[in-house]
Amino acid sequence: MNISILNFNKFDHEFFMREALKEAERAGKRGDRPIGAVIVHNGDIISLSSSKYRTMDSNVAHAENTAIFNCASYLKKYGRECTIYTTVEPCIMCLTTIVMAKIKNIVFALEDKYMNMSPFINSNPYIVERIDNYIGKVLEVESIELYRKYAPHDLDIMTKIYN
Ligand SMILES: [Zn+2]
Repeated sequence: MNISILNFNKFDHEFFMREALKEAERAGKRGDRPIGAVIVHNGDIISLSSSKYRTMDSNVAHAENTAIFNCASYLKKYGRECTIYTTVEPCIMCLTTIVMAKIKNIVFALEDKYMNMSPFINSNPYIVERIDNYIGKVLEVESIELYRKYAPHDLDIMTKIYN
């Protein structure tokens, strides 16, 4: 697993993360958590979605999950060549869904210190072998701003280190 951005173009990351941030803003405006996700293949956005926690009244309607289900059959064929951009580090459920969907590249903005995924990822060879790139802090400040605007309490939890 590579945690550098050497294999990627920084400006591509920011371009696609801005699209994910637009989705996050839409979610915040309608009362959902301000989290967006886009899935990219060969430079094209093939899916975009956002947290639908409130809209779908579901604890599992996270941005990454709903983005994956939007293009599920496409991912069966091309998942390995895709990158998912998400405005918050994937939670335990979404990370494993991303792995099962064969997506090998994950780029996120805001690190989730509450969920603290790195020890979980690094302790599990099945997951480590299936992620090529795991890149954080891309437009993190912009993601934090959306949290300040729409979900300040959640931001306090996610940016606090509990251990
Ligand atoms: Zn999630």
